[in-house]
Amino acid sequence: MAKKRILITGGAGFLGSHLCDRFLKEGYYVIAMDNLITGNLKNIEHLMHREDFEFFHCDVSNYVHIPGELDYILHFASPASPIDYLKMPIQTLKVGSLGTHNCLGLARAKGARILVASTSEVYGDPTVHPQQESYWGNVNPIGPRGVYDEAKRFQEAITMAYHTYHKLETRIIRIFNTYGPRMRLNDGRALPAFLGQALRGEDLTVFGDGSQTRSFCYVDDLVEGIYRLLLSDYPYPVNIGNPDEISIKDFAEEIIKLTGTDQKIIYKPLPQDDPMQRQPDITKAKEILGWEPKVSRADGLKITYDFYKNREEDV
Ligand code: NAD
Ligand code: UDP
Repeated sequence: MAKKRILITGGAGFLGSHLCDRFLKEGYYVIAMDNLITGNLKNIEHLMHREDFEFFHCDVSNYVHIPGELDYILHFASPASPIDYLKMPIQTLKVGSLGTHNCLGLARAKGARILVASTSEVYGDPTVHPQQESYWGNVNPIGPRGVYDEAKRFQEAITMAYHTYHKLETRIIRIFNTYGPRMRLNDGRALPAFLGQALRGEDLTVFGDGSQTRSFCYVDDLVEGIYRLLLSDYPYPVNIGNPDEISIKDFAEEIIKLTGTDQKIIYKPLPQDDPMQRQPDITKAKEILGWEPKVSRADGLKITYDFYKNREEDV
């Protein structure tokens, strides 16, 4: 039987590259597409020799062309860290809107099912805790995070429109903070920042008083959730994340302990509109996908630290 063919946009990024690995393992023919603005070919160089893998260097906000048939599309292309999307606000808005539109059009032309990567950022600085999918969010459209949050909210809207109007098979995942090997240690997100600082022998920069919370999910758990959602028949948004919530100050302390660094925490101003609390309600994922995270933060952080500890070139 011919292999199922899947396109993964953002395939050279952190999550995209793990998805390439997973779908190859499941026996799919994988086509990764990326313009490398925040990704790195190093993340997929171990796949380049394979006959069931192809890479297209391409900006999905322009025209997307894929020769041959396509069964599935995972649209993961987008700058994803606050530093990246503040540096590239227009590209971020374009890939969430035009890029998503192009991918939906491609899915329609090929008769493919598409899953789009949304985010807990659609909830903004939430006034409901933990966040359920039914919550509409509290987003400042013109603040610094607006370019990312609103692009992702538009992405959800146009995806639902293709579902209802064109009867396209669509899936929407709302991803909560995820970490693991292959993150860029200078992308400014909390875990890569703290780990990079500890490994370089610098103090760890906690923003604000560190009382804001996040709930960190290990990448393998997220990938399992994506896999299950793609193969499910559920078209509405589903939260995937680890509900184990921690304050950023306590998180920095965990990294200090894990790495054994002598460095201390220093405090910097809290960025504008930084959400004060975030925790996924994963009732839906449990009920619909039979999914829940399996990797504890202690185990996930250890795997991630072991990965970077031996790669001085990344630090
Ligand atoms: P990443 O920066 O490592 O990966 C994004 C990839 O998309 C990069 O390889 C980048 O070069 C590529 N890209 C960006 N714009 C593009 C364009 N116009 N055309 C082609 N490729 C383009 O980030 P990530 O953490 O792997 O995030 C992947 C997706 O998951 C993003 O859509 C992000 O919004 C979403 N997400 C991630 C998290 C998380 O915690 N990692 C949380 C919520 C949502
Ligand atoms: N953060 C921090 N120090 C850093 C980087 C991030 O204190 O060097 C904080 C940031 O202000 C936020 C939390 O860690 O409150 C998570 O930040 P991240 O960028 O990882 O994710 P997001 O804010 O998008 O959830």
